[in-house]
Amino acid sequence: MEETISKNFIEQIIEKDIEEGRYQKIVTRFPPEPNGYLHIGHAKSILLNYGLAEEYGGEFHFRFDDTNPAKEEKEYVQSIKADVEWLGADYKGHIYFASNYFDKMYECAEFLIKKGKAYVCDLTPDEIREYRGTLTEPGKNSPYRDRTPEENLQLFRDMRDGKFPDGSKVLRAKIDMTSGNMNMRDPILYRIARMEHHNTGNKWCIYPMYDFAHPLEDAFEGITHSICTLEFEDHRPLYEWVVNECEFENPPKQIEFAKLYLTNVVTGKRYIKKLVEDGIVDGWDDPRLVSLSALRRRGYTPEAIRKFMELVGVAKSHSSVDNAMLEYCIRDDLKLKRPRMAAILDPVKLVITNYPDEQIEYVDVPNNQENEEMGTRQVPFCKELYIEREDFKIERPKKYRRLYVGNEVRLMNAYFVTCTGYDADEDGNVTTVYCTYDPASRGGNSPDGRKVRGTIHWVAVPTAKQVEVRLYENIVDEEKGVYNEEDGSMNINPNSLTVIENAYVEPALSDFKPGDSFQFMRTGYFCIDTKDTTEDHMVFNRIVSLKSSYKPN
Ligand code: ATP
Ligand code: MG
Repeated sequence: MEETISKNFIEQIIEKDIEEGRYQKIVTRFPPEPNGYLHIGHAKSILLNYGLAEEYGGEFHFRFDDTNPAKEEKEYVQSIKADVEWLGADYKGHIYFASNYFDKMYECAEFLIKKGKAYVCDLTPDEIREYRGTLTEPGKNSPYRDRTPEENLQLFRDMRDGKFPDGSKVLRAKIDMTSGNMNMRDPILYRIARMEHHNTGNKWCIYPMYDFAHPLEDAFEGITHSICTLEFEDHRPLYEWVVNECEFENPPKQIEFAKLYLTNVVTGKRYIKKLVEDGIVDGWDDPRLVSLSALRRRGYTPEAIRKFMELVGVAKSHSSVDNAMLEYCIRDDLKLKRPRMAAILDPVKLVITNYPDEQIEYVDVPNNQENEEMGTRQVPFCKELYIEREDFKIERPKKYRRLYVGNEVRLMNAYFVTCTGYDADEDGNVTTVYCTYDPASRGGNSPDGRKVRGTIHWVAVPTAKQVEVRLYENIVDEEKGVYNEEDGSMNINPNSLTVIENAYVEPALSDFKPGDSFQFMRTGYFCIDTKDTTEDHMVFNRIVSLKSSYKPN
C-alpha cells in the first residue's frame, strides 16, 4: 500500500527550492521581540520553524529581535529562552540578538545611499504622512528626494553623530511614491531617537525601522525561508527590495502563514497584560492563561503542544481552533504515561461497621489500569474512609448505581460494601455514611458471582493528606465571547477559579514533587503547582477534566 503524506504549502516551497538548487541547506528562524511572554501562538511559529529545519537537515536560529529600544525588557529575554527550550526547539547554539547587527545594518544603509537608493529627508512626520497619499491616491515625491549621494552620505553620518534633534530627519528608501503598495512609497529606514538600548547602551542615536532591520537580520544569518504571519504579506515586496538592493547572494525569501487563534481564548499581549494588571489573574503564569509559562504551570507538556500543532496544521487563511482540541492533546499525552491516584475533592466520611477498629491493611492498586507496565502500589485501607459526597444519596435518583441505603457497591480495588445507614446534620447535610463489608470480596472481586453495578474510589482517613485543589474554567465567558462589542472590554467568567481547601489525597502523593502530574481517578488530570506548593501545603491544579467534547478523525 502506498502511503501518502500530504505536505503543507511551506514544505512544498522548500522542496522545490532544494530541488532547483536555490539553497543547499535550509535555515529557518524564530525572531521574538522581547516585549512580553510567549503564548500558544508563538509555540506554533517555534515548532513550525524548528520542525522544518529538522525535517530537511537544516539549521534553526533563535533570534531576539531587539532593534526597538523603546519596548524591550531583559526579564522577557529570560522567560522567552526558557519557553523555547522547554518546547524542545533545540537551536544548537544558534542564538542571536539583532542589536548585535547594528553596525552591519548601518553599513547597508550607507551602501544604499551610495547607490542612490536611499536619501535623507527633512519632512516632518505630518508632512511625510501627507506626501504619502492614500490607498486611492498616489503619493508625491519629497522635495529632498533628489539630494546627491554625497550630500546624503554626509547628512546620514551627521545623523549618526548626533548633530540633529530627535525626529528632525529620517533616512528613506528611494522606491516609488506612486506604488499601489503603500509600503513601497519611500519607506523610512532609519530614525533619530536618543534612547538607551539594553545591549548597545548609548552608542546609537539612530535606529533602523523593523521593515529594514528584519530582512537584513535574516540575510546576515543566511536564513533561507523567513516564515512570518499573514499581516506581513504586504511588506513582502519591501523585504525583497531590501535584500536585493543590498545585493545579498542567495537572499532569503519570506513566506506567510495564518496565525493560530483559539476560540474563546485570550492570546493578545495587550489583553493578557490587562488581566494581570487588573488583578483578575495571578500573573503571566496564571494557569487560566495560554502563555507558555501558564500552560507549563497548569501541567501541559511539550509533547501535548507539539501534538496539537500537528493536528492544527499550517494554513494560508485565518481560522480559529477549538480549545477542546488542545485539551484533547494533553489528555491523550498523559493517559498512559501518568499514574492514577485517589483524591476526594468533596469528602464525606464512610464507616465500615463490621471492620476491625484499629486495623490498617494494604491493598494492591494498579498505577494505571490501561498500562500494566506501570506496576502496582500498596494503598492503606481501614474502617474509616473518605468518599465523594456525590457517591451517596439519601433518595436514590433514577439509574443511580452508587451508594444509597440497601445498595451494594465496590470500593475500588478493596471490597464490596453494603450501605446500612447515614447521619445528617440539622440542615440535612450527610455527615457520615455507614456500611458493612464482605471480607470475601477482597481486591474488589465478587466471591460468588454476584454483581455490583457501582464502583467508587476512597481514601483512608488516618493516612489521608489534606491538600488544596484548584479547578479552572475558561477565564472568558464562553456564552458572550472574548470581547465586549460595545466597549472592547473582555467578558470575564466570574467562576473561572474554584478553590477547594479540604480535599484529601492518598499518602503516596507525598512522594511527588511540584510539576508532577497524574490522573485523579474519576475526576481529571491534575499537577502539583510549582508556585504555591510548600513543604506542608500541597496545591494541585486541574489540568483538564476527563470528559472531552472533541474527537480527532
Ligand atoms: P503578540 O502581539 O500576539 O504577542 P507578536 O507578533 O507581537 O505577537 P513577536 O514577538 O513579534 O510577537 O512574534 C514572534 C514570532 O511569533 C513572529 O514570527 C510572529 O509572526 C509569530 N507569532 C505571533 N503570534 C502568533 C500566532 N498567534 N500564531 C502563529 N505565530 C505567531
Ligand atoms: Mg510583534
